[in-house]
Amino acid sequence: MRAVVYDAAGQAPRVDAVPRPMCPPGGAIVRVEATGVCRSDWHAWRGHDPVPLPHVPGHEFAGTIAEVGAGVREWEVGARVTAPFVNGCGLCEFCIRGDSQVCPDQTQPGFTHAGSFAEYVVVHAADLNLVRLPESIAFTTAAALGCRFATAFRAVTVHGDVHPGDHVAVFGCGGVGLSAVTIAAALGARVTAVDVSAPALARAQELGAAEVITAADPVDAVVRATDGGAHVTIDALGSAATANAAMRSLRRGGRHVQVGLMLGAAATASLPWDRIIAWELSVTGSHGMAAKDYPPMIAMVEDGRLAPDRLIGAVTDLQGAADALVAMDGPALASGIVVALPGTSADADG
Ligand SMILES: [Zn+2]
Ligand SMILES: [Zn+2]
Repeated sequence: MRAVVYDAAGQAPRVDAVPRPMCPPGGAIVRVEATGVCRSDWHAWRGHDPVPLPHVPGHEFAGTIAEVGAGVREWEVGARVTAPFVNGCGLCEFCIRGDSQVCPDQTQPGFTHAGSFAEYVVVHAADLNLVRLPESIAFTTAAALGCRFATAFRAVTVHGDVHPGDHVAVFGCGGVGLSAVTIAAALGARVTAVDVSAPALARAQELGAAEVITAADPVDAVVRATDGGAHVTIDALGSAATANAAMRSLRRGGRHVQVGLMLGAAATASLPWDRIIAWELSVTGSHGMAAKDYPPMIAMVEDGRLAPDRLIGAVTDLQGAADALVAMDGPALASGIVVALPGTSADADG
């Protein structure tokens, strides 16, 4: 099959023929109809996140089941599906209680094994991890759900517990930040978006932000815009500065959700503990969303309250996915998520 592959971290990814994956017991092979390009793929390619080499990236996808492994009960060939980027084992205490997004034995297509920049991808523990897609949701739209949008949905609805009228401040307006903006706005929150990029803030406004703020130290402006501090802040960027600014932009009893990855020195960044204690702030990490929690999000996409396709900037082929990965060496573009259709590659071999 054709896939985007690289042999070493940072080596130019190429479209090449690779062996089609074998279907594991309990797993499924999904024929990839559409796959999104995410900054996490770039982190793995640049070596920030170790992956087996040679490697096929890609972890947000939608497609049809091509094969099911021994023991799979819920699924049949031909079903339209997507999957979260974190796939639980289905056996541990965390999976059993419904929190497969923190499974210690998790698999991740595009990280622990070959990903979806390919004609076929393996999903392990298919009964736990596959999500059925209604006919009304296009594969390109569903590919935009898998990582950033689902992660933002859980951050806003579960950890943020956002209700109509709440002030929500989103720091960082890349893919996950813009997803959080549009989801919080759809739930009736009043959203303030913070970024250093004017084009990113313009997109945030189009997607439902009521206020936009660009400032080196945005805390005072956010507190003013949120009528005394946000009920919920989300750091969708992932840096010591944004995480701290977001926490200091909360009102008393507020909730901060950390979605942006804290890499390198940021992993051990200090928190404003005095404020967290005196104001009884909550600080929660958020890591994807389990397949069992997809139905409310799918329902909001089906009835039009959420339109993740509005986050798509370009639709391309596998070579375009490789090019988009390399382009992430530069600053993030406000144009949106790049989605590749492996079946449209000029040299696809089916
Ligand atoms: Zn597990
Ligand atoms: Zn991702």
